[in-house]
Amino acid sequence: MLTESRSARPQAVDEHKRRSMSRQRSRDTGPEMAVRRRLHALGYRYRVDHRPLPDLRVRGDLVFTRTRVVVFVDGCFWHRCPQHGTSPRHNGAWWRAKLDINVARDRATERSLAKDGWRVVRIWEHETPDDAVARITAALGPPRSAPRAAAPHHP
Ligand SMILES: [Zn+2]
Repeated sequence: MLTESRSARPQAVDEHKRRSMSRQRSRDTGPEMAVRRRLHALGYRYRVDHRPLPDLRVRGDLVFTRTRVVVFVDGCFWHRCPQHGTSPRHNGAWWRAKLDINVARDRATERSLAKDGWRVVRIWEHETPDDAVARITAALGPPRSAPRAAAPHHP
């Protein structure tokens, strides 16, 4: 049986740090949900946690297939936010290498997507929903259809 070895992973120093370093984002609560609700209310439609390219092993947090825009909501720690990105001192070399790989992978993903005509918007987890929505809608342009209330069905 194949199990992933977790023994190489050093323990985080304290609970606060452990939580801020957690990979597990609560996708359906909090700021990301606020961003999604606002975009939807503005008339934008998107896919959530979707692969923009079938042969690229990456899922966008929000994917606008028609306009070819991918939004990633990045954790400040894992993606080295310029304001909050830190390198833990404990096991520093291990973490530096790991985070370097993450950031390099982000850039490689952007290049692969750009080659196929996709644009990437990266939102930091610390950004307010207002700021995030402003940046996303700037990339998208106006929604294709204005929000409308209960369109009548064709008979
Ligand atoms: Zn940050």
